[in-house]
Amino acid sequence: MTLASLEQLLAEIAPELAAVDTRLEWLAPEWPITQQLAAEGAYACTIRGPFPELKVQWESVDSWTGAWPNVIAFIEADMATPGTLCHEAAHLLPATPPMPDTGVVEARPEEFHEWRERYVAATSAPVVPWADHGAAWTRRALHLWFRSIQAGHAIDLDDVFIAGDRYGLSPALDYAISLKAELEDLEGCSFALIEATAPPQEFVQLFVRDAATWAVDNGHAHLFLPKLDSVAAAQPLETDEIRMRSFIASGGRLEFADAASTVQFGFPE
Ligand SMILES: [Zn+2]
Repeated sequence: MTLASLEQLLAEIAPELAAVDTRLEWLAPEWPITQQLAAEGAYACTIRGPFPELKVQWESVDSWTGAWPNVIAFIEADMATPGTLCHEAAHLLPATPPMPDTGVVEARPEEFHEWRERYVAATSAPVVPWADHGAAWTRRALHLWFRSIQAGHAIDLDDVFIAGDRYGLSPALDYAISLKAELEDLEGCSFALIEATAPPQEFVQLFVRDAATWAVDNGHAHLFLPKLDSVAAAQPLETDEIRMRSFIASGGRLEFADAASTVQFGFPE
């Protein structure tokens, strides 16, 4: 699809992104940053903040406003699809205004994987397989997918790259079914309002069970348990792992007071 028709679709499914200056762009294949991203397996990405190559491009066509717009950038032409658009737009929601240009552009790391290793070394939290694609992101992506279908685009759920084995979660269809009523009820709502609304318990429980199962299977039960204790009275069982397995076996049901505690539960996105 052309970027112009994807832009049109974006305005239909997430009008608030258009309202804060969100641009769809190609990354030129000759830019080193494009090659690094492609080597990492990326076919598209979102950008918030400094991206000097694009600034030069915007200045050349007089569309540089003095602030960094939100960008959905495509690398591979055959991946410029409504499915990819839904995936990437879910990373930019709820919408935030363009970032002021401070004039200072941080040097980019030489290699992305070195940067990632440094990042991992600097944080004590385990890198979860659903990093950046957790419960809140999945919910937003499903709303965008549903709205695209309503707008006349028959998007296969697989083409949005939601949940499933790649993120150590249950299949995307399970998440879609658990969210079905909400997708219809909140179709006309802003994503800020969706974020402030507690998701259906079925959706939350599915994510909690997935996260708990991963934590136990990967030796991180001790990190998960304090959060478990804070929202439900856990049985004083023998070990963390037994407690976690018992929790999962019981269906893993927890009650949440509000949307914020739901989203923060488990691990960060
Ligand atoms: Zn993503």
